[in-house]
Amino acid sequence: MKRRDFLLSVLPATAGVLVILTVILLFFQYHSFRRNYIADIQHSLGTHATLVTLLLQDDIARRDVATIAEKIRPFHKEPLRITVIDELGAVVIDSDLSALSRVSHIERPEIQRASAETDNFTIRYSTSMHATLIYNARRLPNDWILRVSLPVNAFDDAFTEAVAAILLALVLGIALVLALIFYIFRRIRPGFISLQRAAQAIAEGQLNTPIVLPHSGLLRELSQSIATMAAQLKGHIATLQHEKDEFNTLFNTLREPLLYIGNKGEILHANHAAVQRFGESLRHPNATIETIGLATLSSLVEAALEELPLEAQEISYNDHGVSYVFLTHIARLVHENKPNLLLLLTDVTDLRRLEGMRTDFIANVSHEIKTPLTAILSTVETLTEMQLDPANQARCFDILTRQTTRLNNLVQDILSLATIERRQANAVQDFRRIDLVHIIEDALADYHDEIMAQKVAVSFVPDPPPAVFIMGDERLLEHLFGNLINNALRYANATRYTVSFTETARHITVHFSDNGVGIAAEHLPRLFERFYRVQKERSRATGGTGLGLAIVKHIAILHRGKVSVTSECNVGTTFSIRFRRP
Ligand code: ADP
Repeated sequence: MKRRDFLLSVLPATAGVLVILTVILLFFQYHSFRRNYIADIQHSLGTHATLVTLLLQDDIARRDVATIAEKIRPFHKEPLRITVIDELGAVVIDSDLSALSRVSHIERPEIQRASAETDNFTIRYSTSMHATLIYNARRLPNDWILRVSLPVNAFDDAFTEAVAAILLALVLGIALVLALIFYIFRRIRPGFISLQRAAQAIAEGQLNTPIVLPHSGLLRELSQSIATMAAQLKGHIATLQHEKDEFNTLFNTLREPLLYIGNKGEILHANHAAVQRFGESLRHPNATIETIGLATLSSLVEAALEELPLEAQEISYNDHGVSYVFLTHIARLVHENKPNLLLLLTDVTDLRRLEGMRTDFIANVSHEIKTPLTAILSTVETLTEMQLDPANQARCFDILTRQTTRLNNLVQDILSLATIERRQANAVQDFRRIDLVHIIEDALADYHDEIMAQKVAVSFVPDPPPAVFIMGDERLLEHLFGNLINNALRYANATRYTVSFTETARHITVHFSDNGVGIAAEHLPRLFERFYRVQKERSRATGGTGLGLAIVKHIAILHRGKVSVTSECNVGTTFSIRFRRP
């Protein structure tokens, strides 16, 4: 829709208002001028009346009409009209012969009001003169009335003429001004419209809109200012955009959930980590801290918004059965005099789990050490304080040997675990290409006697086994397979061990199976934990430390492998170690 130009719509209205104001002003001025004019006329008429009275009073007293007529003749052509009326209201003589009337004047207002007073004026329309006149009528001693009058039309005529002149001048003036404005407007309009369009485009964000500069004048300066403003705006916006991008990158690269919260608890911004952890609903426009559904977090935010002291706090979060522990850090940012919050949730789940594991480990180690130590101490006491026969002495030495061996095994296994864990960071550079079958055969050879004693048949599937090479540490891998064989010998009570392999493009998996007693399903998830035992008595009786399978797991991890177990009671157990191909 084409909008009407503002100036064009305002100008006629302004002109109209100007004319109306002038007319109102003239209307009020008319009455004021007329009042003054009539006061002047009255004054002059009063003077004239007095003079005429002096001139005619003797003649009127004598009722000498001829002399009166003679004296008023010079007034025939004057605007001052002199009329002499007798006591019955009949006109005796009138200076205006054309208006000489035979009609009785007794009813005329000025005659009715006529008295000896001099300031007795009446204004009325004279039907005989066809004009408005102002009358002064004086009753003389012989009851005749001397009436003088002057027309007041002269003022109305002069005023009408003046008004006509003023209005004409006004209309001409307005027309001239309008024409001038219209001319100027027509000249600057195209430039003005193009500038207006450019300014509008800039306001809508099209900062590259070209601005045509007029050759000269005010509009050129204005155009130049707008062009400069657009360029500066572009620079500022680019800087702001850059800063915003930087902020977003920083915000989203953070691996910890970070939320920017408004003063009503609404989530103004949630980074990728927060959305990943607490769900897409955080990005909903109406999302608040309540959306997360953690009462502790909501009340923490509420307290922070109420300007209570900010304290880091640990909160637990459960996501589909998996528990997380977060440490909260809140920073208050004042925005428009109200606090907004930056809430960082540091995931300390692993840290807390490790701390728990360390505490458990220390407790377990202490417990494992305490039993053999107590046994050693009491045996030594017995040996030193009692006179024992050689048989009992031999029993005591046997106890000492078993308990020290147990302690030694424990220390060895703890040291092995510690060494393996420490090596994890730089293990790969020490690795060599290793023939896995060869390692397994060596480990089996180490336990040859026990295997023979238990009459266990060992077989490779296929037989002969394929050549299987991986990158690894020979000694550690022997340790790994040694532990598996040792466990099978101590717990499985099997008649057959089978070593088999499965291969994929990326992995080689070694399966070590026995057809022994098996392990109940409820133990399997925790089997590789430190100090976790299934057959506790058997483990202790055979010098087990509870660390054998934990060592297996960590050696596998060191080789970027993975260990798993399947088992069925009275059918057997299979340990599988998956290695990456070199
Ligand atoms: P330990 O040092 O006590 O042998 P491990 O970590 O080596 O500890 O083994 C943990 C538990 O797993 C053992 O207590 C044992 O009961 C069970 N186990 C390990 N291997 C077998 C197997 N081949 N058959 C049956 N049970 C086994």
